[in-house]
Amino acid sequence: MKKDIYLDNNATTRVADEVREAMSPFFREMYGNPSSIHAKGREAKKHLEIARARVADYLNCATDEVVFTSCGSESNNLAIKGAFFSSPKKKRHIITCVTEHPSVRNTCESLKELGAEITYLTVDSSGFIDMDELAASITDDTILISVMLANNETGIINDIAAVAEISRDRGVLIHTDAVQASGKIPLDVASLGVDMLSISGHKFHAPKGVGALYVKKGLALVALIDGGGQEFGLRAGTENVPYCVGLGKACEIARKSIGENFNHLLSLKREFYAAVVENVTDVALNGDFEKSLPNTLSLSFKGVDVQSLLINLDLKGVMVSSGSACSSGAPKASHVLTAMRLGAERLKCVLRVSFSTYTTAEEIGRAADILIEAVNSLKKKY
Ligand code: PLP
Repeated sequence: MKKDIYLDNNATTRVADEVREAMSPFFREMYGNPSSIHAKGREAKKHLEIARARVADYLNCATDEVVFTSCGSESNNLAIKGAFFSSPKKKRHIITCVTEHPSVRNTCESLKELGAEITYLTVDSSGFIDMDELAASITDDTILISVMLANNETGIINDIAAVAEISRDRGVLIHTDAVQASGKIPLDVASLGVDMLSISGHKFHAPKGVGALYVKKGLALVALIDGGGQEFGLRAGTENVPYCVGLGKACEIARKSIGENFNHLLSLKREFYAAVVENVTDVALNGDFEKSLPNTLSLSFKGVDVQSLLINLDLKGVMVSSGSACSSGAPKASHVLTAMRLGAERLKCVLRVSFSTYTTAEEIGRAADILIEAVNSLKKKY
């Protein structure tokens, strides 16, 4: 029997063997609390700091600018709420974008109840923000701009350095959600020009339940969890040492193999896309093939019932994601693709296919054949 093909790596990824091995001793003999002053505590602290240094190396920042969190959502909450609550002049305005992940959008929405004013930047049909709209949105009351580096549905990469350039002289903080970009492209907070940047372990081969926030030196944030003074007073709670070690290892691997991994992912994406476009009519790419993550494809298939397609693929062992949210049982078109104003027809049947380091060319060929056959047979029925 052929093995299943997992092409939903933007949802989550497999933990790398090296990451699992690096974590393992911290569940057994090295179980100390890094705040304890005895030998076991000091040992845990030493490895926590090695992990922090590995994250810092990947992000090109100092070690004391890395705050460990429990996930990307927490990092985004800490950045946005932390900046809002610490605003010295009681400014109230935050600028973000319509296509952000719910952990940014809903955080901004919740701050509205506390008096925040939120501007949502619109996007063009490829999903990019307009820099003129951004510049015009900044006021004397603006505290923070939070725009994601790479979109989780389309993979498009925003020009965050240009965002930072526009706001540099306006005294506005810049946060970017780099959760999907992690492990797929280089992350360099200095060249991006950001004040805060979020990452999450499970999107690049570390476990679920660990993340980090880069916080530029000198930036005063209000912590969301009160307690001990861990994580420079920004995130109370005994650090999850094994998971932080795992995140550190994933960052080390990402930094060392970023070029090779990028080329691998891009060749898979090219191959898969070429096969589909050659063999299926009425298929459209959502986003931008070049200015996007090397591992992500969002495709619309005209005249195909999406539920039937997903069931068909699942039965044949191909795991992808649909472009719709289905939390209440009734599928709803994705807010990202809706914001791109692609038209109702294109929103009806969207697949997001996302690859990882572990995806092989053989799997891509097989998955493309299965998808092409499924789409073409379903088209005949409608
Ligand atoms: N931001 C983006 C762009 C994401 O894709 C996700 C997860 O899908 C998150 C934030 C949240 O990350 P986590 O699952 O670690 O909370």
